[in-house]
Parts: sequence; structure tokens; C-alpha cells
Amino acid sequence: MDTITQPRPARKPRSFEPVTGTFRWLAPFDGNTGKLIISTRTGVAVYFVTAIRTDATPHFGGHLAGYQLANEGNGETYHVVLEQWGMNCTCWDGLIRQQYVPTPECRPCKHVKALQEALPHREAA
Ligand SMILES: [Zn+2]
Repeated sequence: MDTITQPRPARKPRSFEPVTGTFRWLAPFDGNTGKLIISTRTGVAVYFVTAIRTDATPHFGGHLAGYQLANEGNGETYHVVLEQWGMNCTCWDGLIRQQYVPTPECRPCKHVKALQEALPHREAA
């Protein structure tokens, strides 16, 4: 008969830590596209980043609504949408974090974190 000696921790889906890693441009972001290397402890991936704009015309760039990140390794694509409170990513980790993480510094997924750190601050201030 097995004896349980360790008390089970309080029920928690999982613990969240701030995303850490290195984020650098393989091809510099020119305001529309760029290639970003996201390196975290879960791995390294190259993303093709495309700015998402609304109301864009050939003569007017439109309003920046967010970024599309396409993983060149596995073809997965995520959208990071600019919200009034910050960036919101469509990846699973981003959704979970937005819903369950109590501390703001742990909320960004690696895509949001990477964009926050790698993008020139205030593109059109
Ligand atoms: Zn994400």
C-alpha cells in the first residue's frame, strides 16, 4: 500500500512565471515586416512579423491594429492585437495568461513580450 507523505499543494492549474528570453531581429522591422528570433527556455523560433493595419490604402498606411507572427518552423500563425490596455495575443498561452494570471508582469506570452522588447518604442509617437 502506497503511503502519501507529501501534502498536495493547493489546487492550481499551473504556476506562471514571467516570460524571459532573448528577442532580436534577423531582418529589422521596417514598420511593415520583419523577421524576429524568439529564444526562450522552451526553444528558439523564427517568426515573420507583419504589421496589421486597418483602413490601409496605397497612399495611406492606415491605423496600426496589431501584428501577425508566423512561425517559420511549424507554420503556426498568431495575432497580437493592440488593445487599449496593451497587447493581446491569440496563442493558447496568451489566452490562459490573460484569463488566470493575477500579476501584470506575468501576463504577456512570449510573442507579446518579444514584440514589447524588440519593437522600436512608440512607432508613431
Ligand atoms: Zn502569444
